[in-house]
Amino acid sequence: MPTRRPCVLCLSGHDPVGGAGIHADIESVAAQGVHALSVITALTVQDSRNVARVQAIDTGLLGEQLESLVVDCDIRAIKIGLLGAPAQVPLLAALIDRLRVPVVFDPVLRAGGGAALAGPALEDAILDTLLPRVSLLTPNAAEARRLAHGAQALEACARVLLARGVAGVLVTGGDEPGAEVVNTWHRADAPPLRYAWPRHPETFHGAGCTLASAIAARLALGEAMSEAIATGQRWTQAALGRALVIGRGRRIPGRR
Ligand code: PLP
Repeated sequence: MPTRRPCVLCLSGHDPVGGAGIHADIESVAAQGVHALSVITALTVQDSRNVARVQAIDTGLLGEQLESLVVDCDIRAIKIGLLGAPAQVPLLAALIDRLRVPVVFDPVLRAGGGAALAGPALEDAILDTLLPRVSLLTPNAAEARRLAHGAQALEACARVLLARGVAGVLVTGGDEPGAEVVNTWHRADAPPLRYAWPRHPETFHGAGCTLASAIAARLALGEAMSEAIATGQRWTQAALGRALVIGRGRRIPGRR
Protein backbone atom coordinates (compact mmCIF):
# COMPACT_ATOMS: atom_id res chain seq x y z
CA MET A 1 0.00 0.00 0.00
CA PRO A 2 1.40 3.45 -0.83
CA THR A 3 1.81 5.81 2.12
CA ARG A 4 -0.59 8.75 1.98
CA ARG A 5 0.14 11.99 3.78
CA PRO A 6 -2.08 14.98 4.42
CA CYS A 7 -0.76 18.18 2.85
CA VAL A 8 -0.33 21.69 4.18
CA LEU A 9 -0.10 24.37 1.53
CA CYS A 10 2.61 26.77 2.72
CA LEU A 11 2.89 30.25 1.21
CA SER A 12 5.98 32.02 2.50
CA GLY A 13 9.09 33.94 1.60
CA HIS A 14 12.41 32.27 0.94
CA ASP A 15 15.08 32.94 3.58
CA PRO A 16 18.46 31.73 2.25
CA VAL A 17 19.70 31.29 5.84
CA GLY A 18 17.12 28.54 6.31
CA GLY A 19 15.90 29.87 9.65
CA ALA A 20 12.59 31.45 8.67
CA GLY A 21 10.18 31.37 5.73
CA ILE A 22 9.51 28.40 3.52
CA HIS A 23 12.52 26.48 4.86
CA ALA A 24 11.06 26.67 8.37
CA ASP A 25 7.64 25.64 7.07
CA ILE A 26 8.86 22.56 5.21
CA GLU A 27 10.93 21.32 8.15
CA SER A 28 8.24 22.00 10.78
CA VAL A 29 5.46 20.42 8.75
CA ALA A 30 7.59 17.36 7.92
CA ALA A 31 8.45 16.91 11.60
CA GLN A 32 4.72 16.47 12.34
CA GLY A 33 4.45 13.68 9.73
CA VAL A 34 2.69 15.95 7.23
CA HIS A 35 3.72 16.92 3.69
CA ALA A 36 4.40 20.59 2.86
CA LEU A 37 3.42 21.97 -0.54
CA SER A 38 5.65 25.01 -0.90
CA VAL A 39 4.78 28.18 -2.81
CA ILE A 40 7.24 31.05 -2.48
CA THR A 41 5.78 34.56 -2.26
CA ALA A 42 9.06 36.49 -2.23
CA LEU A 43 12.81 36.05 -2.41
CA THR A 44 14.90 37.83 0.21
CA VAL A 45 18.45 38.93 0.83
CA GLN A 46 19.21 38.38 4.50
CA ASP A 47 21.56 36.91 7.06
CA SER A 48 20.97 35.54 10.54
CA ARG A 49 20.76 39.13 11.89
CA ASN A 50 18.41 41.03 9.58
CA VAL A 51 16.69 41.28 6.18
CA ALA A 52 18.25 43.56 3.52
CA ARG A 53 15.81 43.16 0.63
CA VAL A 54 12.49 41.53 -0.32
CA GLN A 55 11.66 40.82 -3.97
CA ALA A 56 8.07 39.72 -4.64
CA ILE A 57 7.41 36.74 -6.89
CA ASP A 58 5.39 37.50 -10.04
CA THR A 59 1.67 37.32 -9.18
CA GLY A 60 0.80 35.44 -12.39
CA LEU A 61 3.39 32.77 -11.62
CA LEU A 62 2.08 32.44 -8.07
CA GLY A 63 -1.46 31.99 -9.38
CA GLU A 64 -0.37 29.26 -11.81
CA GLN A 65 1.46 27.39 -9.05
CA LEU A 66 -1.57 27.52 -6.77
CA GLU A 67 -3.91 26.30 -9.51
CA SER A 68 -1.68 23.26 -10.25
CA LEU A 69 -1.58 22.26 -6.59
CA VAL A 70 -5.27 22.78 -5.90
CA VAL A 71 -6.24 20.56 -8.80
CA ASP A 72 -3.75 17.83 -7.91
CA CYS A 73 -3.34 17.53 -4.13
CA ASP A 74 -5.41 16.89 -1.02
CA ILE A 75 -4.82 20.14 0.87
CA ARG A 76 -5.98 19.94 4.52
CA ALA A 77 -4.67 23.27 5.83
CA ILE A 78 -3.04 26.47 4.61
CA LYS A 79 -0.16 28.31 6.28
CA ILE A 80 0.63 31.85 5.19
CA GLY A 81 3.74 33.79 6.18
CA LEU A 82 5.51 36.70 4.48
CA LEU A 83 3.60 38.15 1.52
CA GLY A 84 5.48 39.83 -1.32
CA ALA A 85 2.94 42.39 -2.58
CA PRO A 86 -0.67 43.57 -2.05
CA ALA A 87 -1.63 41.98 -5.41
CA GLN A 88 -1.00 38.53 -3.91
CA VAL A 89 -3.77 38.97 -1.33
CA PRO A 90 -6.85 38.61 -3.63
CA LEU A 91 -5.31 35.40 -5.03
CA LEU A 92 -5.03 33.98 -1.53
CA ALA A 93 -8.55 35.07 -0.64
CA ALA A 94 -9.95 33.24 -3.67
CA LEU A 95 -7.89 30.16 -2.80
CA ILE A 96 -9.16 30.10 0.79
CA ASP A 97 -12.78 30.53 -0.33
CA ARG A 98 -12.33 27.62 -2.72
CA LEU A 99 -10.60 25.18 -0.37
CA ARG A 100 -12.47 25.89 2.88
CA VAL A 101 -9.75 24.39 5.10
CA PRO A 102 -8.19 25.89 8.27
CA VAL A 103 -5.86 28.83 7.62
CA VAL A 104 -2.99 29.78 9.94
CA PHE A 105 -1.52 33.18 9.14
CA ASP A 106 1.70 34.45 10.68
CA PRO A 107 1.59 38.17 9.77
CA VAL A 108 5.22 38.93 9.02
CA LEU A 109 5.46 42.73 9.15
CA ARG A 110 8.97 43.29 10.49
CA ALA A 111 12.08 41.14 10.81
CA GLY A 112 13.42 40.37 14.28
CA GLY A 113 16.44 42.45 13.21
CA GLY A 114 14.21 45.48 12.60
CA ALA A 115 13.75 45.62 8.79
CA ALA A 116 10.24 46.47 7.54
CA LEU A 117 8.74 43.53 5.61
CA ALA A 118 5.32 44.98 4.71
CA GLY A 119 4.29 48.47 3.55
CA PRO A 120 0.97 50.25 4.30
CA ALA A 121 -0.81 48.95 1.15
CA LEU A 122 0.01 45.33 2.02
CA GLU A 123 -1.02 45.89 5.62
CA ASP A 124 -4.39 47.29 4.49
CA ALA A 125 -4.97 44.33 2.14
CA ILE A 126 -4.17 41.94 5.00
CA LEU A 127 -6.60 43.68 7.35
CA ASP A 128 -9.46 44.07 4.87
CA THR A 129 -9.26 40.92 2.77
CA LEU A 130 -7.24 38.26 4.53
CA LEU A 131 -8.16 38.51 8.22
CA PRO A 132 -11.85 37.61 7.77
CA ARG A 133 -10.71 34.34 6.17
CA VAL A 134 -8.17 33.30 8.80
CA SER A 135 -8.74 30.59 11.43
CA LEU A 136 -5.71 31.49 13.54
CA LEU A 137 -3.57 34.63 13.34
CA THR A 138 -0.21 34.33 15.12
CA PRO A 139 1.23 37.84 15.58
CA ASN A 140 3.98 38.58 18.05
CA ALA A 141 3.24 41.45 20.44
CA ALA A 142 4.68 44.11 18.11
CA GLU A 143 2.72 42.79 15.11
CA ALA A 144 -0.51 42.64 17.15
CA ARG A 145 -0.06 46.29 18.22
CA ARG A 146 0.71 47.40 14.68
CA LEU A 147 -2.26 45.59 13.11
CA ALA A 148 -4.56 46.89 15.85
CA HIS A 149 -3.59 50.50 15.03
CA GLY A 150 -2.97 52.10 18.38
CA ALA A 151 -4.20 49.66 21.04
CA GLN A 152 -1.38 48.96 23.50
CA ALA A 153 -2.68 46.24 25.84
CA LEU A 154 -2.42 42.90 24.02
CA GLU A 155 -5.93 41.85 25.02
CA ALA A 156 -7.32 45.07 23.50
CA CYS A 157 -5.27 44.41 20.32
CA ALA A 158 -6.72 40.91 20.06
CA ARG A 159 -10.25 42.30 20.44
CA VAL A 160 -9.64 44.75 17.57
CA LEU A 161 -8.38 41.92 15.36
CA LEU A 162 -11.30 39.63 16.27
CA ALA A 163 -13.68 42.46 15.35
CA ARG A 164 -12.10 42.41 11.89
CA GLY A 165 -13.35 38.86 11.42
CA VAL A 166 -10.42 36.59 12.27
CA ALA A 167 -11.62 33.48 14.13
CA GLY A 168 -8.75 33.29 16.62
CA VAL A 169 -5.59 35.19 17.56
CA LEU A 170 -2.59 33.59 19.26
CA VAL A 171 -0.49 36.56 20.39
CA THR A 172 3.05 35.34 21.02
CA GLY A 173 5.16 37.02 23.66
CA GLY A 174 8.71 36.20 22.60
CA ASP A 175 9.29 39.91 21.95
CA GLU A 176 7.92 41.00 25.36
CA PRO A 177 10.10 41.23 28.53
CA GLY A 178 9.95 38.65 31.33
CA ALA A 179 11.38 35.35 32.51
CA GLU A 180 8.54 33.52 30.78
CA VAL A 181 7.27 33.74 27.22
CA VAL A 182 3.50 34.14 27.50
CA ASN A 183 1.37 33.29 24.47
CA THR A 184 -2.38 33.97 24.66
CA TRP A 185 -5.12 32.52 22.47
CA HIS A 186 -8.08 34.86 22.02
CA ARG A 187 -11.47 33.95 20.52
CA ALA A 188 -14.70 35.90 20.34
CA ASP A 189 -16.77 33.29 22.19
CA ALA A 190 -14.44 32.09 24.98
CA PRO A 191 -12.15 33.60 27.62
CA PRO A 192 -8.48 33.99 26.61
CA LEU A 193 -6.25 30.95 27.18
CA ARG A 194 -2.75 31.70 28.45
CA TYR A 195 0.31 29.50 27.90
CA ALA A 196 3.55 30.31 29.77
CA TRP A 197 6.91 28.85 28.69
CA PRO A 198 10.34 29.23 30.29
CA ARG A 199 12.27 31.79 28.22
CA HIS A 200 15.38 30.45 26.49
CA PRO A 201 18.31 32.82 27.03
CA GLU A 202 19.16 33.13 23.31
CA THR A 203 17.35 35.04 20.58
CA PHE A 204 16.02 33.17 17.54
CA HIS A 205 15.45 33.70 13.86
CA GLY A 206 12.38 31.91 12.49
CA ALA A 207 10.62 30.96 15.72
CA GLY A 208 7.28 32.46 14.60
CA CYS A 209 7.27 30.64 11.23
CA THR A 210 8.16 27.41 13.01
CA LEU A 211 5.24 27.67 15.45
CA ALA A 212 2.63 28.70 12.87
CA SER A 213 3.52 25.92 10.45
CA ALA A 214 3.62 23.29 13.21
CA ILE A 215 0.08 24.34 14.24
CA ALA A 216 -1.09 24.20 10.59
CA ALA A 217 0.33 20.68 10.28
CA ARG A 218 -1.42 19.52 13.45
CA LEU A 219 -4.70 20.90 12.05
CA ALA A 220 -4.04 18.99 8.80
CA LEU A 221 -3.77 15.82 10.89
CA GLY A 222 -7.28 16.49 12.19
CA GLU A 223 -6.47 17.89 15.63
CA ALA A 224 -8.90 20.42 17.07
CA MET A 225 -7.59 23.99 17.23
CA SER A 226 -7.02 23.82 21.01
CA GLU A 227 -4.99 20.63 20.66
CA ALA A 228 -3.03 21.92 17.62
CA ILE A 229 -2.11 25.13 19.47
CA ALA A 230 -0.91 23.14 22.49
CA THR A 231 1.08 20.55 20.53
CA GLY A 232 2.51 23.16 18.16
CA GLN A 233 3.83 25.23 21.07
CA ARG A 234 5.26 22.21 22.90
CA TRP A 235 7.13 21.06 19.81
CA THR A 236 8.39 24.58 19.01
CA GLN A 237 9.64 25.07 22.56
CA ALA A 238 11.64 21.84 22.20
CA ALA A 239 12.99 22.97 18.79
CA LEU A 240 14.21 26.22 20.38
CA GLY A 241 15.93 24.15 23.08
CA ARG A 242 18.04 22.42 20.41
CA ALA A 243 18.60 25.57 18.30
CA LEU A 244 21.46 25.69 15.83
CA VAL A 245 24.20 28.26 15.30
CA ILE A 246 24.28 28.90 11.55
CA GLY A 247 25.73 32.41 11.30
CA ARG A 248 26.96 35.23 13.49
CA GLY A 249 23.49 36.46 14.48
CA ARG A 250 20.49 34.75 16.02
CA ARG A 251 20.11 30.96 16.36
CA ILE A 252 17.65 29.02 14.27
CA PRO A 253 15.24 26.42 15.69
CA GLY A 254 16.50 22.80 15.61
CA ARG A 255 13.55 21.33 13.77
CA ARG A 256 15.06 17.91 13.02
N1 PLP B 1 12.41 36.19 6.20
C1 PLP B 1 11.28 35.53 5.96
C2 PLP B 1 11.09 34.92 4.62
C3 PLP B 1 10.32 35.39 6.97
O1 PLP B 1 9.18 34.71 6.74
C4 PLP B 1 10.57 35.98 8.25
C5 PLP B 1 9.63 35.86 9.36
O2 PLP B 1 8.64 35.18 9.35
C6 PLP B 1 11.75 36.66 8.46
C7 PLP B 1 12.63 36.75 7.42
C8 PLP B 1 12.08 37.28 9.77
O3 PLP B 1 12.16 36.30 10.74
P1 PLP B 1 12.61 36.69 12.20
O4 PLP B 1 11.74 37.82 12.60
O5 PLP B 1 12.39 35.48 13.02
O6 PLP B 1 14.02 37.07 12.10
